[in-house]
Amino acid sequence: MSDFYENDFTGLSETGEEKHKTEERRCSRCGRPVSECGPLTDLPDGTSLCSDCLKKTLDAAKNNAPFDLNSLFQGLGNLPGVQFLNLGDLQGLGRAAKKKKQEEPEKRFSMDEILPPHKIKAQLDRYVIGQERAKKMMSVAVYNHYKRIIEEQRRADQAKKKAEERISDPNEPDIVEIQKSNILMIGPTGSGKTYLVQTMARLLDVPLALTDATSLTEAGYIGDDIESVVSKLLAAADNDVEKAEHGIIFIDEIDKIAKKKNVNSRDVSGEAVQQGLLKLLEGAEVEVPVGASSKNAMVPMQTVNTKNILFICGGAFPNLENIIKERLTRKSSIGFQADLKDRFDDDRNLLQKVTVEDLRKFGMIPEFLGRLPIVFSLEALTEDMMVRILMEPKNAILTQYQALLAMDEVRLSFEEDALRAIARKAMEKDTGARALRSIIEEFMLDIMYEIPKDDSIGEVVITREYVEHTGGPRILLRGQL
Ligand code: ADP
Repeated sequence: MSDFYENDFTGLSETGEEKHKTEERRCSRCGRPVSECGPLTDLPDGTSLCSDCLKKTLDAAKNNAPFDLNSLFQGLGNLPGVQFLNLGDLQGLGRAAKKKKQEEPEKRFSMDEILPPHKIKAQLDRYVIGQERAKKMMSVAVYNHYKRIIEEQRRADQAKKKAEERISDPNEPDIVEIQKSNILMIGPTGSGKTYLVQTMARLLDVPLALTDATSLTEAGYIGDDIESVVSKLLAAADNDVEKAEHGIIFIDEIDKIAKKKNVNSRDVSGEAVQQGLLKLLEGAEVEVPVGASSKNAMVPMQTVNTKNILFICGGAFPNLENIIKERLTRKSSIGFQADLKDRFDDDRNLLQKVTVEDLRKFGMIPEFLGRLPIVFSLEALTEDMMVRILMEPKNAILTQYQALLAMDEVRLSFEEDALRAIARKAMEKDTGARALRSIIEEFMLDIMYEIPKDDSIGEVVITREYVEHTGGPRILLRGQL
């Protein structure tokens, strides 16, 4: 606790001693000395603001006037990234003190601001357990995505120069057109698809919109029209178009918009939604309502270009394994098919062998797949992975409970057998790591309710018996520790 306050409020000179030291300091904005305006908050740009001016600055930033958020954050976390900056914290908003320039230059990306893939992955490792190949592929894809944006900038610069000078420099290197690295992620429910994307967006400090393909419909039908995904991203970017244009859109349950196999069926809605998404995935200017999910005459519109938005689609693709198995069997040999089919039955990594052809067979249209060049799968979680998920990641569920009880000065620990029992129970539910939370919440409720009643308790040990409802937790009193 005390660390938290020390870290967050450095610069607030509350104590008498510090006050003495800062007696002659003045607020950089209103100019009043500290004796008149109270303690100052030091901002990273070297200015110090009194609480009144800080509040005004924060309010101005919130109302978006007279400052523009782009200029406020310029230089701070420009690049996706990589600066793990929380735009909402005081230091970030401190930049509000800067005046908006007349002509706001376009946000630029540069190579030294992008984290290389191994560093992106190292950050993901702190949160996401296992899924090594997926993390690696995702890190490379994201790295390339931002490299592509830099190439686009260079291309635009070159074109501008040519247009201005009406000559071309023969020594100028050709700029290669890099394909957009939109991603298709395949993996069972609860294997961490959404979590991986959320973690990535947080690490890169870019806005993220999460949507579900099943809610999307063609224009004119009941449901969200396709462009609503961009609207959501704009909202996630606090209506800052430029920020939204470098954000990430995650469309879950993409397998649900597969083309129906039954050719007689007149239901083509899934296919039509895939068609509708094509131009967004590739890059298009779309008019989206600001601050609302549907277009109507009363809502102001903004134009957002999707060419630099990273689209990630995810889905469980049930039965895809059978399609892969069938293809592998066909390829391997003609004849002993039954045998071969069995051979692939126990292959846990079958999904890793997926090809575009398999996905087409599943019902995704070729044009759609063509716009998602990066395809990878996540593994189904094993019992061991579940055990690790309980304790290892930064902000793991159990460490959160430990932190809560530590505030009552009570230690919370788990027997190895108890962790296994939780993992086993979760495996039975077949909803991946998602089941863990509900199982834990169930048995932790009584602990969280009862423990604070009794001051003499120093430690609670969760046992396998307690998880399995055949016994209680082990309680140690303070004197016994
Ligand atoms: P999916 O999108 O694949 O259905 P989620 O990403 O929503 O699954 O996973 C549900 C929750 O389970 C996440 O919020 C996260 O806490 C946890 N989780 C799932 N997979 C992992 C993993 N590999 N490492 C750490 N936590 C995970």
